[in-house]
Amino acid sequence: MIDYNSIPVTMVKGVSAAKQQELHAFGISTVADLLLYFPYRYEDFHVRRLDEVKDGEKITIEGRIVSTPVVQRFGKKSKVTVRIMVEEWLVSATWFNRPYMREQLTQGRDVVVTGKWDQRRLQITVATSEFADRGAMRKDTLQPVYSVRGKITQNWMRKTIAQAMLQFSETISEVLPAELMRRYRLMPRKQAIAALHNPQDAQAGKQARRRMVYEELLLFQLKLHAFRALNRERADGVAHEASNTQVKEFVRSLPFELTDGQKGAVTDILADMRSPYCMNRLLQGDVGSGKTVVSAIALYASVCSGYQGALMVPTEILAEQHMRSLMKLFEPHGIQIALLTGSVTGRKRKDVLAGLQMGAIDILVGTHALIQEDVFFKRLGLVVTDEQHRFGVNQRSILRRKGMNPDVLLMTATPIPRTLAITAFGDMDVTSIKDRPAGRKPIKTYWVKHEMLERVLGFIRREVDQGRQAYMICPLIEESDKLDVQNAIDVHVQMQQAFPNLSVGLLHGRMSAAEKDEAMRAFSSGSTHLLVSTTVIEVGVDVPNSTLMIIMDAERFGLSQLHQLRGRVGRGEHQSYCVLIADPKSEVGKERMRIMTETEDGFELSQRDLELRGPGDFFGTKQSGLPEFKLADMASDFAVLEQAREDAAELIGMENFWTTAEYRPLHDMLKQEQLFQGELLD
Ligand code: ADP
Ligand code: MG
Repeated sequence: MIDYNSIPVTMVKGVSAAKQQELHAFGISTVADLLLYFPYRYEDFHVRRLDEVKDGEKITIEGRIVSTPVVQRFGKKSKVTVRIMVEEWLVSATWFNRPYMREQLTQGRDVVVTGKWDQRRLQITVATSEFADRGAMRKDTLQPVYSVRGKITQNWMRKTIAQAMLQFSETISEVLPAELMRRYRLMPRKQAIAALHNPQDAQAGKQARRRMVYEELLLFQLKLHAFRALNRERADGVAHEASNTQVKEFVRSLPFELTDGQKGAVTDILADMRSPYCMNRLLQGDVGSGKTVVSAIALYASVCSGYQGALMVPTEILAEQHMRSLMKLFEPHGIQIALLTGSVTGRKRKDVLAGLQMGAIDILVGTHALIQEDVFFKRLGLVVTDEQHRFGVNQRSILRRKGMNPDVLLMTATPIPRTLAITAFGDMDVTSIKDRPAGRKPIKTYWVKHEMLERVLGFIRREVDQGRQAYMICPLIEESDKLDVQNAIDVHVQMQQAFPNLSVGLLHGRMSAAEKDEAMRAFSSGSTHLLVSTTVIEVGVDVPNSTLMIIMDAERFGLSQLHQLRGRVGRGEHQSYCVLIADPKSEVGKERMRIMTETEDGFELSQRDLELRGPGDFFGTKQSGLPEFKLADMASDFAVLEQAREDAAELIGMENFWTTAEYRPLHDMLKQEQLFQGELLD
């Protein structure tokens, strides 16, 4: 391994114990950490030609002083102005609050100044300046800018990293195999690190970055591949033994024919379940593509094989709904199902826990509490997680810690652009359902202003008159779920007044589990015509008779959220509609509304969402499990990521990868690093 890896950062001249503490907050404790702390941008001190600069730009120009300086004072403030001949232009240069400059700005002196350019006045507001007769003019035309805060200043960081390079750059050794270096014409590691901190020019900086990004992504992909290989080697998963006939019979008992996508998914999943390897599969499918029934088939196969299954969902409402639909499917087969959520307490909860441990319960449906805490299964064979993107926790490691090693199936309706999928779920096998149940009509989406509300209400009445149902979604008001609820309550009252002859329901997060369940049941059964709700119904809710989705203040939602909400309709044979009521002020807001009316394809939508928001925000908060890269950027380094993925597969697939000396540095780096939180390689 590279020597500098274990050297404490205090070995760098100028790093005191106090500074060491400060650096710790940056994640820097060794010399290696410091050397790999790269600038996030560079300041460009290239001397520019005046005919190629733009107004308002920060520029560096070179010229000769041709006037005596004029000093103006306003109280404590001051301003020194001098004229400089730059090429054939007479430029006025101004230093604010540096009256002492007056002595230095003598006529005939050659000067280089950096500052903000005012095109109209041919004037530059000087930030820094240098004189030719003071020795060498600035050589480093690109200055690194590091992310700093607290007591660590930009200058200190620059100086310290330069010092660390001086002392330790000789110990930086190559980690990439020579063959890959040649194939992609990569800069040697030492040179690349040096160039990132102090590039001679933009081109050198670019090449250095390319090299380090490749290294970072290759290592990341190697980790994922190594992890998968390890999983294969272990072969300590559950080998389900359900027969084809059993599964086929169950599929025949369903009220509809499976789509091709569903059939493909079932085939993949059953193959995984039968093998002794631990299944680790992600099932992707747009809203309404019919993932629930696929998971039901998998759960059925698990029970037929003598195991227990669990279905984990993000909300209680969804848990209740799945409970109801699975009961319908499974009860004729004598399968026992139970529900476990935060609102199942006391005696009931005790019974469920006992039933699980005794093996009297075959399938458990619930929120994420069901794989944690004091829940123990007799023979857990399969865990399905619906709407996976809502969970941040690494379920596999939780399960392993409990001494269980079931097959794991994750389902998500948030279509993840391919590159993000490789990053976030790179250690998983992925199946996508690309079709939809036959007979579905595209949902018609309209974007209207608030003043159109009256007409929208007319629309509701028409749909209800035809026997259909509608949702009206009220948005989050800032971060306060209290205001949020109040708003829904107000809208509910308004709607009751607007539709005295209709049954208008209300659903929000502050209702008790029983109240929520009651509201959902009333809507499911069709006795409620219009359901006023907060976003608690965003994911998973399935009422095929509802055909109209109205989203109030739609500009307050993100694209994927709007798409999820829209996915609550269009689940049956009737034509469905989505109405976005919004007066967005920002361009991005307008763009979101336009995209919604233009496409119903979740994959396209998420790709455009990614472009609008950037990858960091794609999954919302930090819970995503997306790894953080030092340099690589998921939006712009797509191609490198894919290449690195291929190369990693090739390397790991080699018979002698783990025994060849040339790959030692890679082995060492792999062993040192953790894969994801809690998932150690060995
Ligand atoms: P999602 O993938 O969004 O979770 P669901 O599993 O909730 O979708 O399915 C959406 C609706 O389509 C449900 O009402 C379900 O019963 C129905 N459905 C699922 N598969 C089929 C199919 N092959 N043919 C007809 N309807 C189906
Ligand atoms: Mg679903």
